[in-house]
Amino acid sequence: MTQYVYYFGDGVADGDASMKALLGGKGANLAEMVRIGLPVPAGFTLTTEVCTYYYANNRTFPQELKQQVLEALRRVERVMGAEFGSSNNPLLFSCRSGARESMPGMMDTVLNIGLNDTTVEALAKQTGNERSAWDSYRRFVQMYGDVVLELKPKDKTEGDPFEVALEHKREKEGVKEDSQLSVKALKELVTEFKQLIKTRAGKDFPTDPMEQVWGAIGAVFGSWMNDRAIVYRRTYGIPHEWGTAANVQAMVFGNLGDDCATGVGLTRDCALGTPGFCGDYLINAQGEDVVAGIRTPKRIEETLSKDMPAAFAQLNDIGKKLEKHYKEVQDIEFTIQRNKVYMLQTRNAKRTGFAAVRIAVDLVNEGLISETEALQKRRIPADDLSQLLQPIFDPAGKKAATSEGRFLAKGINAGPGAASGVICLFADEAEAFHEKNPNVDIVLVRKETSPEDLRGMKAAKGILTATGGASSHAALVSRQMGKACIVGCSAIDVDYTTKTVKVAGKTLKDGDFISMDGFSGEVFEGQVQTKASEVIQVLVNKTMKPEESETYRRYAQLMGWVDKYRKLRVRTNADTPGQADEAVAFGAEGIGLCRTEHMFFDHLDEIRHMIVAETKETREEALAKLLPFQRADFAGLFRSMNGRPVTIRLLDPPLHEFLSDRHLEEQPDLAQKLAKWTGLSLDAVKRRVGELHEANPMLGHRGCRLGIVYPEITAMQARAIFEAAVQVKKEGINVVPEVMVPLAGFVTEFKNQEKIIRATAESVFSQTGVTLEYLVGTMIEVPRAAIRADQIAKDAEFFSFGTNDLTQTTLAISRDDYGPFIGFYRENDIIPNDPFQTIDQEGVGDVMRIGVERGRSSRKDLKIGICGEHGGDPASVMFCHDIGLNYVSCSPRRVPIARLAAAQQALASK
Ligand code: ADP
Ligand code: MG
Ligand code: MG
Repeated sequence: MTQYVYYFGDGVADGDASMKALLGGKGANLAEMVRIGLPVPAGFTLTTEVCTYYYANNRTFPQELKQQVLEALRRVERVMGAEFGSSNNPLLFSCRSGARESMPGMMDTVLNIGLNDTTVEALAKQTGNERSAWDSYRRFVQMYGDVVLELKPKDKTEGDPFEVALEHKREKEGVKEDSQLSVKALKELVTEFKQLIKTRAGKDFPTDPMEQVWGAIGAVFGSWMNDRAIVYRRTYGIPHEWGTAANVQAMVFGNLGDDCATGVGLTRDCALGTPGFCGDYLINAQGEDVVAGIRTPKRIEETLSKDMPAAFAQLNDIGKKLEKHYKEVQDIEFTIQRNKVYMLQTRNAKRTGFAAVRIAVDLVNEGLISETEALQKRRIPADDLSQLLQPIFDPAGKKAATSEGRFLAKGINAGPGAASGVICLFADEAEAFHEKNPNVDIVLVRKETSPEDLRGMKAAKGILTATGGASSHAALVSRQMGKACIVGCSAIDVDYTTKTVKVAGKTLKDGDFISMDGFSGEVFEGQVQTKASEVIQVLVNKTMKPEESETYRRYAQLMGWVDKYRKLRVRTNADTPGQADEAVAFGAEGIGLCRTEHMFFDHLDEIRHMIVAETKETREEALAKLLPFQRADFAGLFRSMNGRPVTIRLLDPPLHEFLSDRHLEEQPDLAQKLAKWTGLSLDAVKRRVGELHEANPMLGHRGCRLGIVYPEITAMQARAIFEAAVQVKKEGINVVPEVMVPLAGFVTEFKNQEKIIRATAESVFSQTGVTLEYLVGTMIEVPRAAIRADQIAKDAEFFSFGTNDLTQTTLAISRDDYGPFIGFYRENDIIPNDPFQTIDQEGVGDVMRIGVERGRSSRKDLKIGICGEHGGDPASVMFCHDIGLNYVSCSPRRVPIARLAAAQQALASK
């Protein structure tokens, strides 16, 4: 018989931390905490297999489940010494979702299950606290209504109907907090809530505890497929098939009085990575009050030692024990019942890129983990390194803003980074605005955020909330997304109906600019001057010394480990000496792609002259004018790279990018000029330009097809390359140029170009009396080239996968035209990723694999790289490691990310 239910409690557990796939992260860690002797209320976990069954069988449960749940429930009753549904000694449960990977706040949880008009009286008697019993009851009816009966708000300005009733009650009693409501008020609320359920859901609130618990279990499994959970999974690449587990756990109470509390904590700060236990707590409160961000909680590190010294000591001990055991920063949820701490959850903490680097380096320096553990993908997602390179606010700019009276307020700095943008108050509006204006940054300003706001948060550059603490939903999610975030900024007054934000005596409107410094928590009106990040100041601008920046020093220590373990080389795509210098500062080991056409755009007259020319002679005349510019550009690059390999691609784009009817229209004198240069008639010029028009330029006269039809172009480019190389070699710098032919599919295409390149090289060498080593290779960017790689590699000395074109040509999807359907494809899970951002491994990736295998079958030591946009995407870099490429090449700022990803994959596949 399948075991669907796993028990934990009283020092023993069926499961453990390794069983996340089956028990979910929450369930597996509850079991593990029981095993290492931490105080955890007893309970049991319904496995993810139940969830899978549930969805495969029309939302029903396996037949044997009922009995297994009943047995586990009885066992919890025995351990807790109380009885579910009892009218004198009642036991209450929570029912909690928990997937394999944590999806904070995306799914549902119900607390205080088992309460009804009878058990509430018994609970009051048993705890000697009538108020807290009724407080728990009203929470239960509310959660049951919201979660199980789906009475969520219908209109974004309306608010949760139960919260509205609560607010009225608070007003009526003249109190600020729910915890100050009288027993009478709570009793009235329970009645009102039940009435709300009856009118809105059309049925009675269920009084039978067994019915309640099954209702909650169904809701938890049902929440796996709610919209926000689906969006979250798509964002973070979590498969929809995994399913969630459900945890049914005995309740402990944080709302029995002032010696009780509920809270969340981190074993060290996860915004900046500073060591020391920290977190939020609320006295005399229950469950999600802290995370929901409705009340701004107190800080554990500031006041808990005074409020509850015993509990504070227990928490610190637990924190140390957890870090030692898990060797990782933990994010915990706990409840203090009468000065005793109960653990309700632990998981590896989500952190910003800043914190990720600091924590990983610190844990190594503290001796808790090794260098190779520090580099694990889950500790530092490679992409997160980019946060360390983002601009920060210039202190001078902040000072100026302050003296201009633009300082507005200060909140809790929950996510580092600088964000200036237009104010948006609603997530859906932020999302819509972003779609229309992708280049305008948005700051999402809200009282608090909830899981429904996820899409809007994704669209925003920064997130600012009036309430909530460092563990509120807003803080947690923005930390994970790497967004600038400030929470608990109580000075701002957000009014959703008038769409205004009142602060510091001013009224800002939706659409006004606001700036927020996520490092310090400061908020400014308008925009604030930014400057380069510390890492860039040290490495690139050299305006800061390494010893002045702790952030840089940790970055450098980490990258030292990275270079020790990675196998893939990392090059950069650069066309100018400036880009090349920056890339070298970030650790680039060569240039993987220099696009020569960028240089042509600076000399449009000459190239247009060449294009219009009708005879070889006039073309050569024009090309002769281009030669010195190309040569100077290449020489600059060779000097910047100082002996590192430089791959130069011959002219690639269709000629009409340089000259088309559009250009003639925009520049009325252009045709005239061209006629003069070439000696053609005006009509002939216009006809010539008209001929360049193509119906499908991506598949038109471009790539090596240009150099084949106009061999003098290739000859000129090759001459520029070799003359520059000779010149720089004479200056004492070693140069090994790698000349790359674009878009070849037939070996004959490659051979045609190779012949011109080698002949030009010989001619330059004999003219200058200097010879040097060089390579002639090809891009692999049409499927035919990969399939016939064995033939091509007999002549080509290196390959470079041009995965942008290879994706276009393999999928027959044009990158210029996929906009209208790619969004729909992603939303409907037609394809798992945007294939132009991350390699389609099963399709394009397999074509690459074929190219590698067949290429090396005829040239064993064939050097192979990748120079498409994918070279800076961590998942694609890892794939390139797996298929045995020699290097990846990416834009300068992605170089550190590619290095880290390469090291991570080298270690993971050891
Ligand atoms: P989420 O995944 O949204 O964090 P949880 O299942 O962790 O949802 O529940 C949220 C909060 O509810 C917990 O942090 C805890 O404060 C409270 N809670 C859950 N189960 C219990 C319990 N058995 N006793 C007391 N509080 C509980
Ligand atoms: Mg939780
Ligand atoms: Mg290409």
